[in-house]
Amino acid sequence: MESKVMSTKELAKADPVFGQLSFDDHEQIVFCNDKDTGLKAIIGIHNTVLGPALGGTRMWNYVNEWEALNDVLRLSRGMTFKSAITGLNLGGGKAVIIGDAKTQKTPELMRRFGQFVNSLSGKYITAEDVGMSTEDMDTVREVTPYVVGISESKGGSGNPSPTTAYGVLMGMKAAAKYKFGSDVLEGKLVFVEGVGSVGEALVEYLVKEGAKVTITDINEERLEIVRDKFKVAIYQGDDVYSENMDIYAPCALGATINDATIDKIRAKIIAGSANNQLAHDRHGEMLQEKGIVYAPDFLINAGGIINVYAEIEKHSKQETIRKTENIYNTTLEILERAAATDVTPNIAALNMAKERIAKRKSEASK
Ligand code: NAD
Repeated sequence: MESKVMSTKELAKADPVFGQLSFDDHEQIVFCNDKDTGLKAIIGIHNTVLGPALGGTRMWNYVNEWEALNDVLRLSRGMTFKSAITGLNLGGGKAVIIGDAKTQKTPELMRRFGQFVNSLSGKYITAEDVGMSTEDMDTVREVTPYVVGISESKGGSGNPSPTTAYGVLMGMKAAAKYKFGSDVLEGKLVFVEGVGSVGEALVEYLVKEGAKVTITDINEERLEIVRDKFKVAIYQGDDVYSENMDIYAPCALGATINDATIDKIRAKIIAGSANNQLAHDRHGEMLQEKGIVYAPDFLINAGGIINVYAEIEKHSKQETIRKTENIYNTTLEILERAAATDVTPNIAALNMAKERIAKRKSEASK
């Protein structure tokens, strides 16, 4: 028989799930469909070696099902490593609901989704992500106990963003200690890109630390609110990346460190909350060549998951703070490891997470 080299697209068609580029030995992928409510969702369970797979549900108007599948595979994998490096006994999972959160989300749809989550008997625990609110999680809670991030009034841990911001501050201070020999941020020029829930809380911490803060956002109203509240400067130029600054804190979207920005970046440290800040691994290598210290995003933005973990472990607010403060130690360890082993901090962090999973796996098989 004549053999033919297939393109990536053809391969994905031949093996539509296991053949996906983002497929990374995921344990289980659950497709949820309900005609009555219009629910179309995919739950991705990447790895449960360390514990139940925890990760938020994202509702997004995906262009097609391929995009939704790819997203859930990529995001659930990321959760595995985030929890592993943070020392939590959680695996990695995520869910996506295909549809417009503004027009297609109904309590019935959320309850039906909750029933699918419930059918997994705790192997997957859901939470809030893009397109979801704390109220939506309260609705899911009506039909399953396997949901976190519910309202404080209902015994939940509430809004995770301030804890996420505190973790980012810890990672930033550790990066400062590594780069400047001191973690004092007083007088340091910090640009915060995106002053939403996390960005605003980070600005508050930075101002308390005595840093000189400049903010940027595409939302004028947010800029004015945060400026008036904390007396910080709004960026007036048109190319934030090429500005002279000590620290760049991406707290908006991912992939801002990319082919178009990498040569311009003049910051000495990059530390922010946005997920997937590096468009590609090579951008991590390029930062290292330029002597820019990069604090891995999935490590320093883990405050949010630490916050919801309290609902599972039933631990106190003090324990949440202690675990979040530990991001400082882990970041410093990662930066030192990266230098010693000549890899990027992102790769060093991934390796550390993988080591923890492998160790637990081998202990469990004994
Ligand atoms: P948010 O939606 O409250 O805030 C995002 C802000 O970024 C908004 O004010 C928006 O106007 C602004 N923005 C969007 N595009 C921009 C652009 N091109 N340039 C400048 N500003 C822009 O979101 P959030 O909860 O504050 O999360 C911020 C980032 O941190 C996201 O990437 C999120 O995935 C990540 N994150 C958040 C948490 C959490 O606890 N909320 C936890 C982990 C990671």
